[in-house]
Amino acid sequence: MNATRPASRKLIVISAPSGAGKTTLCSRLLRDFAELTLSISTTTRAPRGEEKHGVAYFFVSRQEFEQGIQAGEFAEWALVHGNYYGTSRKTLEDSFRAGRAVLLDIDVQGAASLRQAFPAETCTIFISPPDLETLETRLRARGTDSEESIARRMANSRQEMAEASRFDTVIVNDELEKAYAALQSRVAKALGRDPGGRT
Ligand code: 5GP
Repeated sequence: MNATRPASRKLIVISAPSGAGKTTLCSRLLRDFAELTLSISTTTRAPRGEEKHGVAYFFVSRQEFEQGIQAGEFAEWALVHGNYYGTSRKTLEDSFRAGRAVLLDIDVQGAASLRQAFPAETCTIFISPPDLETLETRLRARGTDSEESIARRMANSRQEMAEASRFDTVIVNDELEKAYAALQSRVAKALGRDPGGRT
């Protein structure tokens, strides 16, 4: 049964270079683990394609974001690809209060900050593409990024891949089903669940 059950204070932090398949994998986790809530980040980057405010992200101006930093509203924040991204402290607190574990799709800097701030609660997972060439092909196939954005994301990916060893678990996404099975089992363990217990 996929019934909601009280989860302990857990942060499941997933980082990956853009195009490593993280979004698909996170969607499947949310479907399979009812006790997980996705943390919706705040960002200063412009919406892409059909992205909606409050669903993909909370889209704000640089000024609003900087005011949020000053007011201590973020549990972590980072500059990624030239834009601010941050996790709201309130989102984490509300989820903990509701007994829900939180799934965070954030960059390697954010993962390091949360690991430091919540060492007992944080499980960090790095999703790695098989290689950088595959990553570039996937980014182009997505068709939502400009050449400049692709170049910037590729440079950033090289740096992110170098951080992989600092994560609790690294999963190589060469084959989606295999990668998801590994991810599902790791998350089940972090949530104290029997991996066979899902629907
Ligand atoms: P994108 O612009 O492709 O949606 O996201 C770019 C990068 O920012 C991704 O690596 C994503 O995981 C990261 N990111 C998204 N939200 C946050 C956040 O709240 N904090 C941090 N540190 N990184 C984030």
